[in-house]
Amino acid sequence: MKRILVTGGAGFIGSFLCERLLDEGHEVICLDNYFTGRKRNIVHLLDRPYFELVRHDVTMPYFAEVDEIYNLACPASPIHYQYNPIKTVKTSVMGAINMLGLAKRVRAKVLQASTSEVYGDPKVHPQKEDYWGHVNPIGQRACYDEGKRAAETLFVNYHRQNGVRIKIARIFNTYGPRMMVNDGRVISNFIVQALRHEPITLYGDGSQTRSFQYISDLVEGLVRLMNTEDNFTGPVNIGNPGEYTIRELAEKVLEMIPGSTSEIVYRPLPEDDPMQRQPDISLAKEKLQWEPRVPLEEGLRHTIDYFRQTLEP
Ligand code: NAD
Ligand code: UDP
Repeated sequence: MKRILVTGGAGFIGSFLCERLLDEGHEVICLDNYFTGRKRNIVHLLDRPYFELVRHDVTMPYFAEVDEIYNLACPASPIHYQYNPIKTVKTSVMGAINMLGLAKRVRAKVLQASTSEVYGDPKVHPQKEDYWGHVNPIGQRACYDEGKRAAETLFVNYHRQNGVRIKIARIFNTYGPRMMVNDGRVISNFIVQALRHEPITLYGDGSQTRSFQYISDLVEGLVRLMNTEDNFTGPVNIGNPGEYTIRELAEKVLEMIPGSTSEIVYRPLPEDDPMQRQPDISLAKEKLQWEPRVPLEEGLRHTIDYFRQTLEP
């Protein structure tokens, strides 16, 4: 049994990860400031004796004797990370420093939830881990992209300089139940809009692509990465290579909610919105013996069921 700290544990991904680690028999400390997470995501875990909840902000130092740290604290949806961009940079950078400092002090292993956004609007397709990316350092998305890039820099340097055991996961677009109704990311937006018979907001002409991974596949990948040998640090892409245009996604969601009277409406493409994104997952296949299992339709079905229940009066 290990004692494991999950920062951002009350968020979408964090809540599933906490649950998985508890199911494996570990003791879990879930740390969150509830900016984009909520108690509702983990309320079903509160009566489990090895689950502990801490209200804390990762920009402040935190101390606990732990064996492993999953550092997930950071808003992930563009509307939320752009709401207070300075805070987003602080969360990524100071959060990384605080968690790496803790890992160094208690000799814990620490995993960083990095992102495909480190590749920016990529000129190499699909994206491999050795691609350095194409990021605008002063654009609207920079607070997130550059914050996450700086966090990767901190991780590798704590490893090189102080021997901290690190793992870096570059997570590609992930979706599933427990996303907030007002999360703002594309899958939850389209499903909520279709269920409410509201217009489906397609940004730009919808020809930009994304590759969508279901939450259970990601959690499996993260746990496998944490359990790799110490000499493997990553970064490693964790995502589903199935690539779709956003227009295809809108059509698919409408097809899967047949009673919906929603129609597609066009809205301006946000600044620096990446035109294409698809992970090359050869490294994850080799080092983690991992690949995603849940096809888009199946994942969408679970997610639609979740939002249907959530939106019920
Ligand atoms: P989310 O917004 O649901 O979860 C983030 C959690 O972090 C929330 O519970 C929030 O309250 C908490 N948080 C934010 N700032 C904090 C702070 N300063 N101190 C403590 N807690 C704080 O997002 P998510 O989709 O679950 O993403 C989790 C992590 O995975 C993030 O680091 C994100 O960058 C990364 N990621 C997610 C995706 C994706 O598609 N979901 C893709 C790439 C990377
Ligand atoms: N998008 C859209 N309508 C929405 C929300 C998003 O067309 O209501 C588009 C967005 O412009 C982007 C893609 O969907 O091209 C994915 O957006 P999301 O915010 O989910 O994630 P990210 O851009 O960070 O990959």
